[in-house]
Amino acid sequence: YQAKQAQTQVAVYDPAQDINSLERLETIQRLRKTIQEGRFLIQYQPILNIAERYINKWEALVRWEHPTRGLLRPAEFVPLAEESGLIGELDLAVLKQAVQDQKRLGGELTINFSAVTLAHPNWVREVVRALVDEALQPSLLWLEITESALLPERQKWLGGLVALRGLGVRVALDDFGMGYSSLAHLKQVPVDLIKIDKSFVAEIGLSQTSEDILRAMLQLASAFGLKTLAEGVENRTQLEWLARHGCHYAQGYYIGLPVAVEQAVEAAFTKAY
Ligand code: C2E
Ligand code: MG
Ligand code: MG
Ligand code: MG
Repeated sequence: YQAKQAQTQVAVYDPAQDINSLERLETIQRLRKTIQEGRFLIQYQPILNIAERYINKWEALVRWEHPTRGLLRPAEFVPLAEESGLIGELDLAVLKQAVQDQKRLGGELTINFSAVTLAHPNWVREVVRALVDEALQPSLLWLEITESALLPERQKWLGGLVALRGLGVRVALDDFGMGYSSLAHLKQVPVDLIKIDKSFVAEIGLSQTSEDILRAMLQLASAFGLKTLAEGVENRTQLEWLARHGCHYAQGYYIGLPVAVEQAVEAAFTKAY
């Protein structure tokens, strides 16, 4: 019996595991350095005001130019930043850079904040400092939080969010409809806009049931006095359907790709809708 147990313990040791955790540590170190040196990149994606047919907002989307793996999307490093406690610094650094870039972009700016960032002790003060330093009108700033962020430990950050909103900062609920939807959330958290997840938009023109759900979401939002934005708009059919059903804003590859600040400024004024 003892021999068997010893054998089991040997079998549990997996050298690949050590290599993985070493790689992980190295990636965390690199990410930390990239954040500290301000070397992450931000792409801006235009948001169309549907009824008025103009671009009036930009979403900041972070990217990481990794030395060996190329340009990384957030899905490849945001989870690691969340687990390693770097996300608060990253989100706040993106905010500061974007607030500076707003001078060239014009219009409103919308920034993604992880649930973990909301638990960061200084986050409200840092947001206010960024606004003051760059003299940005608070009503030009939107913070995007996901529905999953609304669930745990709301009491820790709700006061801060309410205070920022009192200054004029606005709040968007990102990826609406993905899993955690509850009418109760919309009543408990100050939200100005819901961003309907692209999985619903993708079904426009393809599924009657999905269109019914989408229509219900738009009606629900207006019953709550909220603005609506559709994510992942990829074609004219989708945009026209959304316009017909009173959706306020559209974002997606059909409107414009996420691009660096220089191209964002050019692109915004050369396309007609
Ligand atoms: P999100 O906030 O829902 O952002 C929209 C995502 O959809 C972006 O992916 C965007 O590039 C992509 N997208 C835009 N238009 C279309 C379209 O027409 N079709 C399709 N299929 N996709 C489209 P991206 O840039 O890879 O970002 C993924 C997620 O990473 C974001 O989802 C957001 O939750 C998160 N993220 C981005 N930047 C930050 C950041 O600075 N901080 C934090 N905490 N999260 C971030
Ligand atoms: Mg977002
Ligand atoms: Mg989104
Ligand atoms: Mg989404």
